[in-house]
This record gives sequence, C-alpha cells and structure tokens, in this order.
Amino acid sequence: MMEQKLAELKERLSEVNDLNMAGAVLGWDQQTHMPPGGAAARGRQMATLGRLSHEKFTDARVGQLLDDLQAYGESLPYDSDDASLIRVVRQQYERLIKVPSSLLSQITTHASESYQVWAEARPANDFAKTRPYLEKTLDYSRQMADCFPGYDHIADPLIDFSDQGMKATDIQRVFGELRQQLVPLVQAIAEREPIDNSCLHQPYPEAEQLAFGTAVATAFGYDFQRGRQDKTHHPFAIKFSIGDVRITTRVDENNLADCLFSTLHEAGHGMYEQGISLALEQTTLNSGTSAGVHESQSRLWENVVGRSRGMWGHYYPQLQAAFPTQLGSVPLDTFHRAINKVQPSLIRTEADEVTYNLHVMIRFDLELALLEGKLAIKDLPEAWHARYQSDLGLHAPSDVNGVLQDVHWYGGLIGGAFQGYTLGNILSGLFYDQALQAHPTIPDEIGQGQFGTLHNWLIENIYQHGSKLTANELIERVTGGPLRIEPYMAYLRGKFGDLYQL
Ligand code: ZN
Repeated sequence: MMEQKLAELKERLSEVNDLNMAGAVLGWDQQTHMPPGGAAARGRQMATLGRLSHEKFTDARVGQLLDDLQAYGESLPYDSDDASLIRVVRQQYERLIKVPSSLLSQITTHASESYQVWAEARPANDFAKTRPYLEKTLDYSRQMADCFPGYDHIADPLIDFSDQGMKATDIQRVFGELRQQLVPLVQAIAEREPIDNSCLHQPYPEAEQLAFGTAVATAFGYDFQRGRQDKTHHPFAIKFSIGDVRITTRVDENNLADCLFSTLHEAGHGMYEQGISLALEQTTLNSGTSAGVHESQSRLWENVVGRSRGMWGHYYPQLQAAFPTQLGSVPLDTFHRAINKVQPSLIRTEADEVTYNLHVMIRFDLELALLEGKLAIKDLPEAWHARYQSDLGLHAPSDVNGVLQDVHWYGGLIGGAFQGYTLGNILSGLFYDQALQAHPTIPDEIGQGQFGTLHNWLIENIYQHGSKLTANELIERVTGGPLRIEPYMAYLRGKFGDLYQL
C-alpha cells in the first residue's frame, strides 16, 4: 500500500523533474546559441513549462500522498533515499503552497519591470529612477516573508529559498566574526608593496586559453562525456540530468585570469552536480543542496586548489609552454603572486579572495536593515558608501559602482540573494580542512597534478547526497559541529601571510 503511494509520488515528481529540466535546456539555449529573434517565443515557452511544473508539483494529490506517507517516511532510516524524498519534498511542497499564486505573479511582473528600469538607470547613474521600484520590491519581499508566519527574523523565509535552514541571526553572528578578522587583514595587506600582476594582462589568444582551462577542469574531474562548455557573457553551470551538466565561460584576450578561473569555478559547480547519486536522478533531490554549499564547491576548486602554489608547481610549465612569449620568462612565484593579488576595489565581481567577503557582507547587512525597517530605500546609496568607506577604505564616485552595480535587488526580492557567496567561502575552508584530516596526502597529490583523492572524498561526503540533507545537516555530518570560520580564516592567514609577508 505504502509502496504504491510512494511509486505514485515518484511518478509525479519524475514528470515535474522532466518539465524543469526541459525548461533548463531552453534557458541554456537562450543564453548560448539562440538568435535574438527567438526571444519573445522563448520567454513564453519557458513560462509555460514553469507553470506546468508548478501546477503539477502543487497538485492537491501530491499533498495527499505526502500526508499518507509521512509516518512511513519517519519509520525509515533518516538518510535513506525514500525517507529523504518524503521529508524534503514535503518541505518544498509547503514552501510553494504557502505563497498565493496572485502574489507570485505580481512579483514576477514587477521584477521584470524593475529589471528594465535598472538596465536603463545604471548607465545613467540614476538611482532616483529605481527608487520607487525598489520600495515596491521591499514591500513585496516583506509580503513574501509574511507568507511564512512564525519566523524569528523577517529575512529567514527569504534566506530559506536558497540556503534552507540557515537563520539570519546565525549568519549575522558568523559574518560579524569574519568581518572583525578580515578588515584588519585587508588593512595589513594594503600597507604592503602592491603585487604586480601585469604578466596576466598581455595578449592571450582565445583558443589556447579555452584549451588550457578545459584541460585543467578535466584533470580536476569535470567529465566532458557528461558535460560541455560554451561561451556566455556571464559564466554559469546548468544541469539537465546527472549525465548532462554544462558549464559556460568567457574570454578576455587581455586577461589570462578571467577565462581560466571562471572555467575552474563553473567546473566546481558542475562536478557537484555530476557527482550526485544516480539513484536520485528522477526525483527533485537531484541537485546541490543550497546556494552556500554549491558555492563552496566552485570556490574550493577555483581558489583553494586552483590558486594554490602546489597546483601551479605542476601546471605552470604547461602554461608557459602554451604561452611561451607571454610567460616564458615570468617565474612561477611572480605568476602565483599575480593570480592572488589582493586589492580593495569597488566592484564585487572583480574582487579578490580576501576582500570579496566584505562586499557580500555589506550587501547582506543592508538587506537585513531594509527588511527590519531600520533603513529606508532613499538612504540606501549613502549607507552603501558609508560601509565601503569603513570596510574597504573606498568611496565610489557614483552609484554606478555603488548601489546600482548588482542586479540582484532589481530583478528579484530583497533578502536571501547574497549570503550564499560568503557561506560558500567559509564552507570551502571548512570542507577542505576535513578532507585534509581524512587524507593528509592531498596537497602532495595536488602538487603532482592529481586530484582524485580530493574529488572522491567530496563525492563521498557531499556530492552524492544531492539535496537529501540540508546545509546544516551536511556540515554537522562532515565536520561533527556547526558552521565555523576558523579553518577558512586559518587558510586565508596562511596563504596571504606568506604572499604578503605579514
Ligand atoms: Zn558560483
């Protein structure tokens, strides 16, 4: 009887999954190969698939099956695929049915209008033009949170959409500790001689850049038999099935770092998705568990491994061979320092490993202040400048490189969009530290261009679970304790202490 109901639930979820993945193919094509003339029809096609998927998933029959299966699910081992499916789908289901579809469609319409206004206001440095839209966005964000009464902090339900179970006050505490340690580190680095990274800014032909990046991604463990790479303005990773996880990159022929590190970053996201257990394929558990855990994998491969001295000890001669005129006479140390240059800047997406988190925490704190009603939209540009002054010692000459720089608040809700980036950095240090405790030989292997032990440890401990476990559950299982910043800070202090002789 229960087996029958479970089979019916799985059958329904399998159809939802097919619709979602078909929508993903359309979205991938839209951003990679679609001619401009396809835009209008494509938008409609994707909206139709999204609506069908939403209708199928929120069908009352799914709720009935989940009710009927609840006790059965609780009788199974917590980590089993079936218990996890019933538990996690119930959470996803409740999250979706609590939001009235009228509110959802108002938000969608508003977000696309707001995005259009931002796209025009940004180059014109016209924050005032976006202000009424942002005020409405803030109002919608509060309405969305209020669909989930009983929260501790108004941002909690919004954070839940991307980092389920992470609470605003916990994140605030962890970020507060991190900020307290990062600001003096950034200041100490700023007092040192700046690193010369001019070796990265020479003419580097596109074909060789792409070939080198994909060679390293392949060595890391990204499987091109189950993936491919295309070019887009904003790199991303996207999944159609566990057997088809694609990545994109971009090339700047005068900046070697752009294509290389965006490739390694997206390969990290892709390897997470490729490493999910095949048993979860047709369920809704077949994707990474949260924004923060996902970002921990892209950052781990991009930064912890990809910008390490050990890895380049192995790969630098190959890079020099690929670019003999550009790098033939540049020593390894010069190159390694160049790819790790720290410099406080105004732009989040161009920030280095150390200062990046300060950009994110500024946005997170401002989001909370807005949602709490402690900050008004009209005062947002000044609040932004004040935090950049105190945290990074910089003042943007305009709002273009200030509050208008990121799309997030202008094309979605205010709340929940930023914390994942810094949670990811913290987790990259935490998970890597655990992998090293289990396998102390990992750094030596990386120094020989071998990544299998690390990759297998990540598959075993993180990737295979898909979204069976929440981020907090995963952290607890893997590290035996809650989220903490010490391993990440120790990593930063060790690496940048050496590089800048602190
Ligand atoms: Zn990422």
